Amino acid sequence: METAQGRRRVLLLGGASEARALAARVAGEPRLDAVLSLAGRTSAPLAQPLPTRIGGFGGAAGLADYLIRERIDRVIDATHPFAARISANAREACGIAGAPLARLHRAPWTPRPGDRWTEVADTDAAVRALGESPRRVFLTIGRLGVGAFLAAPQHFYLVRSIDSPEPQHLPPRCEVILARGPFAAEEEMALMRAQRIDVLVTKNSGGPLTYAKIEAARALGLEVVIVAPPAAGDVACLENIDAALAFLTEGLAP
Ligand code: NAP
Repeated sequence: METAQGRRRVLLLGGASEARALAARVAGEPRLDAVLSLAGRTSAPLAQPLPTRIGGFGGAAGLADYLIRERIDRVIDATHPFAARISANAREACGIAGAPLARLHRAPWTPRPGDRWTEVADTDAAVRALGESPRRVFLTIGRLGVGAFLAAPQHFYLVRSIDSPEPQHLPPRCEVILARGPFAAEEEMALMRAQRIDVLVTKNSGGPLTYAKIEAARALGLEVVIVAPPAAGDVACLENIDAALAFLTEGLAP
């Protein structure tokens, strides 16, 4: 559906760091009338270059209603690779509303020479992979995953997240650092040394923004317990922002 000005209505589901860069490009595209949607998880989200709505839609059915009501013509899923529910909802809702969907894909990191990775399927497996003996753990899996590590209270955790985890989710021996990437490898090494870290626990989120911790662990010879991303599902994957813009403007007069 095009607006009276002949612009195509599109929805960007944001959450990944690339979504902001895509939003900036879309804002400069006069043929698109776009809305950016955020879950509203971070307390101080960065300023966005597009009209932005915040909060859940109420499942796949709620999102389908929104797409139909707002006459959305195309959807880009630019959520974080680990945000599996919203991506599944987007697939279902776009099917119902008949709106083409594509995902802005971010390739996961792959191990390089010198990396000591223990790859696990989910957060609970990451907890088990730490073993019985007390260790000093650098835990960088986002505030919502921290609670799982209550099951292994013998370890010390240096927890880093953008917003503070809920106090009841914090293991008994821990310290919390609030920070948002990007980080530099030298700083990550200095932090890991100062905190006498034995093992890094991270999601395999891919992308350059938070890769420095992987480089630092490699340089220090530390083990990395790394959680594999969920499967992307049956959706067209776009490798970069140019491809996403091409998808959104496909078929429109230049
Ligand atoms: P999730 O499990 O896939 O989604 C949970 C619910 O949050 C969804 O069902 C939806 O609620 C709502 N939601 C998620 N993304 C939304 C969006 N862009 N706009 C509107 N509603 C949205 O997601 P999550 O893992 O909790 O992550 C929440 C947000 O943080 C996502 O946008 C994600 O991209 C971002 N993020 C996640 C991670 C991570 O590691 N999981 C890391 C960095 C950033 P309704 O069902 O009510 O629509």
